[in-house]
Amino acid sequence: MPATPPKPCSHPGCGVLVRDGSSRCAKHPKAQWAKPVTATKRVTGRKLQALRAELFARQPLCVLCQAQGKVTLASQRDHIIPLAEGGADDAANVQGLCEPCHASKSESERTRGVARAWAGYRDP
Ligand SMILES: [Zn+2]
Ligand SMILES: [Zn+2]
Repeated sequence: MPATPPKPCSHPGCGVLVRDGSSRCAKHPKAQWAKPVTATKRVTGRKLQALRAELFARQPLCVLCQAQGKVTLASQRDHIIPLAEGGADDAANVQGLCEPCHASKSESERTRGVARAWAGYRDP
């Protein structure tokens, strides 16, 4: 006999039965990964504007495009090691990226974040 009886997922409108006692189905894990304990606080406001200006003065081109022999102006201040993965918010950990490169890098980081959240999850 199972320790926990199946319960419907608590996500609004879902109702899929879950058996691992988490009260969330596979599609709706609790958003613990949104605030990992190791995450670095993000610089914002006027200080961020100054950091962006400093970065683009130092490194005006997208580094990922440059690696492919393309010349594209950087418009995004990107963290080489994402803050969510413990990267520092300082000059050594930032690079200039163009919008498309930044979007695809963010997407793969988001996918990794979801994978981290799922690391402890096992299919019943
Ligand atoms: Zn659900
Ligand atoms: Zn680029």
